[in-house]
Amino acid sequence: MMEHNTYWYFYALLTARYVVIAGLAFLVFYRLFPARFARLKIQRLSPKRQDYVREVGYSLLTFFIFAAVGIVLISPAVRPYTQLYSNISDFGWAYFALSVVLALLIHDTYFYWTHRLMHHPRLFKLFHLTHHRSVNPSPWGAFAFSPLEAVIEAGVIVVIVLLIPIHEFAILLFLLLMPVYNVYGHLGYEIYPKWVVNSKIGRWLNTSTNHNMHHRYFKGNYGLYFRFWDEAMKTTHPHYDKTLASLVDSEQTAAARQV
Ligand SMILES: [Zn+2]
Ligand SMILES: [Zn+2]
Repeated sequence: MMEHNTYWYFYALLTARYVVIAGLAFLVFYRLFPARFARLKIQRLSPKRQDYVREVGYSLLTFFIFAAVGIVLISPAVRPYTQLYSNISDFGWAYFALSVVLALLIHDTYFYWTHRLMHHPRLFKLFHLTHHRSVNPSPWGAFAFSPLEAVIEAGVIVVIVLLIPIHEFAILLFLLLMPVYNVYGHLGYEIYPKWVVNSKIGRWLNTSTNHNMHHRYFKGNYGLYFRFWDEAMKTTHPHYDKTLASLVDSEQTAAARQV
């Protein structure tokens, strides 16, 4: 009975997290100030109402699977096999911070390789086509997965808690940073300023432009938070630098942006 209640509690939290983060982005960029941000729009057209409905619908379906994975992980039968811990003093605050960074690096690697695998012609339709129905994604599309892809995406939490010691709150922090970056990736607008994308660290950060181009062209730009894997595996889209530069450089015209 308790697990049944916890399941719905998890589902409600996942949905609330999505509605707040994606909803805020949608409200600001698509409803309140679209004209103010027009110059930063990656694709000229906006998604249609039916796109938003599909993206929200599949995201709500995804959370049923995410909640189930959460329940299994904290169940008394499984939790002892994980490296989840409850006392910060076990590893200290420095490790707490490091574990969040490690979780992001693990997720980035997991995402890149499972993503590339799901682009294999034999797997694409079954696993990944649903997500790619958003050729011009909106913030609502961040979790629009087929149920099979949702299982793959949820799998990263299993990998993290098996691979590294991680405090419960560090996982929560990770579970907050992840959707923020994911919604940014599907925002449809490039909001990073020029100085960030041209900085030494910024060059290695993934951008909304990068993931938007992945949705538009289906090929290239498979990363999530970082660009290490795309660069190492030479999968960055050939027009990426040019497209990004046109969006962050105020001197370029909107026409030059439509690469
Ligand atoms: Zn893809
Ligand atoms: Zn996407």
